[in-house]
Amino acid sequence: MSYSLLSVTYIAASALFIMSLGGLSRQETARRGNLYGIIGMLLAVLATAFGMNAQNAMNVQGTGFGMLAAVIIPGAIIGAALASRVAMTSMPELVAVLHSFVGAAAVLVGLASFLDPASHPTGTAGTIHNVEIFVGVFIGAITFTGSVIAFLKLRGSIGGKPLALPGRHFLNLAMMLGCFFLGYQFLSGGHADGLQPLLIMTGIACLVGVHMVMAIGGADMPVVVSMLNSYSGWAAAAAGFMLSNDLLIVTGALVGSSGAILSYIMCRAMNRSFLSVIAGGFGTDGGTPAPKTGNEPVGQAKEITLDDTVEALREARSVIIVPGYGMAVAQAQHPVAEITKLLRARGCNFRFAIHPVAGRLPGHMNVLLAEANVPYDIVMEMDEINDDFPTTDLVLVIGANDIVNPGAQDDPSSPIAGMPVLEVWKARLVVVMKRGKGVGYAGVDNPLFYKECTRMLYGDAKKNVDALLGKLRD
Ligand code: NDP
Repeated sequence: MSYSLLSVTYIAASALFIMSLGGLSRQETARRGNLYGIIGMLLAVLATAFGMNAQNAMNVQGTGFGMLAAVIIPGAIIGAALASRVAMTSMPELVAVLHSFVGAAAVLVGLASFLDPASHPTGTAGTIHNVEIFVGVFIGAITFTGSVIAFLKLRGSIGGKPLALPGRHFLNLAMMLGCFFLGYQFLSGGHADGLQPLLIMTGIACLVGVHMVMAIGGADMPVVVSMLNSYSGWAAAAAGFMLSNDLLIVTGALVGSSGAILSYIMCRAMNRSFLSVIAGGFGTDGGTPAPKTGNEPVGQAKEITLDDTVEALREARSVIIVPGYGMAVAQAQHPVAEITKLLRARGCNFRFAIHPVAGRLPGHMNVLLAEANVPYDIVMEMDEINDDFPTTDLVLVIGANDIVNPGAQDDPSSPIAGMPVLEVWKARLVVVMKRGKGVGYAGVDNPLFYKECTRMLYGDAKKNVDALLGKLRD
């Protein structure tokens, strides 16, 4: 493949990646966005394969189709098998482990680039190349070990409690300063003396990754995964500079910046500052109650029967469903979609209210509802629907907890104080469907359950929604 054809293909793939991100930003265009991404990646892999083979023909490198096939085919099979089997609720784990591969790849590319006798430019170009190697290996090593720890925490293999070593900020600072010093040694010494500081820095950066993520609580892990997503993008961009591969630079920058924006959006939706997440220490094991603040809600939660809920659904002219993590766990989205169809056919104004951090990953609820073919135009974002609760007859909260917690507005001592929430308690009747008195991810009690307008429908969300659907059909 000629160099100009390779460049044109890389530009086309980059454009497709940008169009893919644009498409993925809206539910209606998400499928198309995904398709653009797939085509872009296919073009990128083909162009790289043919480009390398052209190099091989010129005897520049000992690479070729055989070697590429030997690594790509098993990788593609393992990736496809894993991704097809993973449950939506385990997606953050899969993403975390994939980021660790990007980090490891950036470290290996950096080391190989340093050791490769054919790629040693001299003068200013050599210094720039060495900076690229050092920075790429540094970010890659942090991403690698940080992602492995995030994966183990999300999987529950190691506890979600933040590890607060004494003087941990000082420890981080000392390790960073050590890396700066090694960087100076690496750049100022000759090529022959560079390997030792590079390897020592790799070891220290691996420790930084472990320590940084160990210090972050389980509740913040999804934000950390998004942040590591950003790091993995920058690590890939650095690898792109080392390999003089424009596509890798563009793709890495897209992943790096979109990961950073996503982390920011998630922090804002949880009313946390990005720095407070990185500094660590927030959150419990995820699902275990937070320490008592003295402002816990008191009162008696009133129950409602299935029959009374059906009656309320039949009578309501306007209904809003608030789905949360419990709906995802129970996989109740399909019967929920059936109820939607049934009640809309009877003229009910039926809508869904989606909190930006409902579930366990951004867009979690949107994906579930799209999978169940709920029409996009009745799925509303929090800002679009929050003012409509006072004029709503019935709100069904299905497996949601933190995102409908009025304590976020009323109780300044609450761990989630200031987090924007769906103001469901302003509706005429709120039916909360959950299994019992379990807390949500932030581990805090929910005063909503004791409000005058609230009724609890206990039980597994799927079982109860199925039962509601059956009775509504009758
Ligand atoms: P929560 O984790 O607050 O609550 C989920 C509730 O579902 C639990 O209280 C549980 O109560 C109930 N539940 C569990 N299983 C079932 C079941 N089978 N049937 C019925 N109910 C069930 O979820 P939310 O969606 O309200 O809030 C998301 C939380 O995750 C927020 O704290 C958010 O900050 C956090 N988070 C989200 C991120 C994202 O990107 N989406 C990222 C980072 C954090 P019970 O045990 O009594 O049934």
